[in-house]
Amino acid sequence: MKHTLAISRLISIPLWLLVASVGFALVDEWKSGIEWPEPAVVNPGAPGAAPSDAIVLFNGTDLSQFEGGDQWLIADGVATAQKTGLRSKQAFGDCQLHLEFATPAEVSGKGQGRGNSGVYLMGQYEVQILDSYENETYFDGQCGAIYKQQPPMVNASRKPGEWQTYDILFTAPRFKESGEIEKPGYVTVLHNGVVIHNHYELQGSTSYIEPPKYKKHPEKAPFSIQFHGNPVRFRNIWIRENVHPLEGKKPEEQKENQADEPRV
Ligand code: MG
Repeated sequence: MKHTLAISRLISIPLWLLVASVGFALVDEWKSGIEWPEPAVVNPGAPGAAPSDAIVLFNGTDLSQFEGGDQWLIADGVATAQKTGLRSKQAFGDCQLHLEFATPAEVSGKGQGRGNSGVYLMGQYEVQILDSYENETYFDGQCGAIYKQQPPMVNASRKPGEWQTYDILFTAPRFKESGEIEKPGYVTVLHNGVVIHNHYELQGSTSYIEPPKYKKHPEKAPFSIQFHGNPVRFRNIWIRENVHPLEGKKPEEQKENQADEPRV
């Protein structure tokens, strides 16, 4: 009786599962053989907090890490744009940049005049900040646009006065000695957790008065936050530079290295 039950159970196992299980036992596992360094441990922190390997640029107390920071209003852990733009004292290239912003709760102005600011990666490439909640403007100038180059895929804006997030992954462009572009810059942007640019190839610097164009600059440069006449608020600004893939040693390289070692 028991045997019959066992056989009937065995028969009821789908054929594909049987083949997959037996096959798994018979084949040799493929391994790349690459010797990887161990990925660093990063404490991601509580939601909204900076990860443990981030450079915290504004945590609510002061803007001393920015030129122009002494001109802004800081109260209740929030920095409000006024008088001038901000420019980071430290230079950055490839990075992950997080910041939170809120356009004024009290709506005034329209189009580009409503809640305008912006993040200028390397001081050149603007990810637009604007109150784009039911506020018409040109699409490649609305919130999340790579200014005058590419509109966001979708409009993920929250209402005026509500906190919003930008998570920006940036690969800086590389230039040849001659000044020609070697590799363009790329930007990926999540607006309130929604992807609005996916590895977008920058066409050059973003400008109000001229078409995009690349002009040679170092691999690292300060980034800026625009003051465009509107009291846009900011909090939780942090940046990470550890954004490059780990490099492993392939089996051939491992052998070469062993051959180099002196014999004792
Ligand atoms: Mg702007």
